[in-house]
Amino acid sequence: MSPELTPGPGAGGSLETRLEASICGKCHKQYVPVRAYCSACRGRTERIYVEGRGKLKTFTTLFVTPDGFTPPLVLGICELDSGTRVLGEILDYRLKESLEIDEGVIVSEKDGKYLFRLERGLSA
Ligand SMILES: [Zn+2]
Repeated sequence: MSPELTPGPGAGGSLETRLEASICGKCHKQYVPVRAYCSACRGRTERIYVEGRGKLKTFTTLFVTPDGFTPPLVLGICELDSGTRVLGEILDYRLKESLEIDEGVIVSEKDGKYLFRLERGLSA
């Protein structure tokens, strides 16, 4: 089976919400973004997909941003349902005053950046 077709533990969702990830062949630790070697045990990793859904664990707002980013930039860390933590930008920044820890987030990847949408923001 091609590594591209190997489902991750969190797989099963639609194509739009899956993320490329790596899993260590020795200790099974998962990584997003993809990396070739495990930083825990130096084992080689395999490419998998995981579901891009999880919970917001922390966030912060940057008013001074690097080139290519428009302030305010709201960054967060999402713990995916598969257990991997991902750093990304919260797109629904107007909601930042009411962001809640552990609220549902949908993660997508675009041009190497991870973008978070709040589950509750989808209907707004
Ligand atoms: Zn490992």
